[in-house]
Formats: sequence, structure tokens, C-alpha cells
Amino acid sequence: MCIQQGPPGSSSDESFNPIAPLDHEAYMRLALSEAHESPPKPSNFRVGAVLVDEGSNKVLATGYTLELPGNTHAEQCCLQKFAQSHDLPEERVGEVLPENTVIYTTMEPCGLRLSGNLPCVERIIRAREGGKGGISKVYLGVKEPEKFVGENKGRTKLGEHGIECIHVPGLEEQILNVATAGHE
Ligand SMILES: [Zn+2]
Repeated sequence: MCIQQGPPGSSSDESFNPIAPLDHEAYMRLALSEAHESPPKPSNFRVGAVLVDEGSNKVLATGYTLELPGNTHAEQCCLQKFAQSHDLPEERVGEVLPENTVIYTTMEPCGLRLSGNLPCVERIIRAREGGKGGISKVYLGVKEPEKFVGENKGRTKLGEHGIECIHVPGLEEQILNVATAGHE
């Protein structure tokens, strides 16, 4: 019996990325579709995120709120999943991130967590350690609503570390509807 196989190195459909380079709205829609996967809860925003190598236009990881065990956030899940795929803990993800890594997140990364967990802003800054530059840009769909922790100073802090925050307009209403499903 003979099993037909493609030539070595032939590209599989899984690696095909239908999103054109720098199509920020399309990437934000992908992040929004991730947010849809997150379980609705009164105490969380449902957020989705996509970690992208902007140099090669490759999706490195996707994530959403509460995807991984624990009280996990979308950006955190992206970083953890990409680190795990290289057998590294999240703290060392910077060692394997490509040079022009960016992250799309439906909502501004958190700068403070009432649970005491490390905020996503700190995780994104930490990802610059030990590698080729880490995450250089954060594309965000909406600012974090001030419901739980007050004003988010995360953007200022990211800027201080040379990480650019860029608002991708156009999906705010859908993002907020998904984010607050499960809230009173
Ligand atoms: Zn967060």
C-alpha cells in the first residue's frame, strides 16, 4: 500500500495566512473572533489577541481571556502559548520572539490587576528581555473601560519602554459587545 505524500517541505494549508501584511483591521477581526471564544463572566472582559511576526506576516500565537488554566488574559495566553511551543516558560519568551513582533488585542492591555497577577503591560515589557527586541507595537481595538481598575496608565508605560500603541479604529462597538457579555 502506498500513501501519497507531497514533496518534502511542501506548504500545508495550516501555515497559509489569508491576511495580507499590515491589514490591521483583518488582524483585529481575528483577535475579535478569539474574544468570542472566551467564556462570559461578570468579573472579566472577554478579550482576544493575536501575536504576529510583522516581518514575515506570520501568526505566532492566538489567545483569549481564560483560555489557559488560571485567571489568564488574552495577551498572556499568546505569550505563554508561543513560549510553550519553544519549551520555554513565559518569562523567557523574549528569547524566541522574532525581531518585528507585534500584538493585536481587542482591548488595551491591562496595567493593573486586582488579583495581584502580573499585568499584561508588564508581560509585554518583559518580553523585550533577552532577545531581538520583543514586541515593538501593540495594536488595540478599544481603550480599557474604567469599570474595574480605573484609568489605565498602561499606554504611557509601554511608550516609556519604546513600545508603540496604535489604535485600530472601526470595530469598537463589536469589541465592547463581546467584551462585556456576561456583565450586568
Ligand atoms: Zn491583561
